[in-house]
Amino acid sequence: MDDSAIERVLAAVKFDAQGLVPAIAQAHDGGEVLMMAWMNRDSLIETLKSGRVVYWSRSRQALWRKGDTSGHEQHLRELRIDCDGDTLLAIVDQTGAACHTGARTCFFRKADVAGLAEAETFRPCGHDHA
Ligand SMILES: [Zn+2]
Repeated sequence: MDDSAIERVLAAVKFDAQGLVPAIAQAHDGGEVLMMAWMNRDSLIETLKSGRVVYWSRSRQALWRKGDTSGHEQHLRELRIDCDGDTLLAIVDQTGAACHTGARTCFFRKADVAGLAEAETFRPCGHDHA
């Protein structure tokens, strides 16, 4: 994506007072919701330029290229901006597990009558994604 196209995307995004926007990652294959993290302007630019999903780590206060330490990379298929521009949806090819716990998705727990239960559709990723 060239710089003028990136500028048009940036103009459509409403960053919050901290300069951040929530970004949801969804699996291109199967549509599973994988995780939610934050992007700032620089991470969004880097994501669009490189095709690798880059977040902003609020805990480390640094750009976080997903997979650089874990190997669990996210390759961007499509970036969508929601109706009012305050949430992003990254449709990705996920290598291995999206969650740092090793689960395929961060959303592997569900609220049920007993309190919390494991969501049976969200099994830890057992595939060999080497
Ligand atoms: Zn997680």
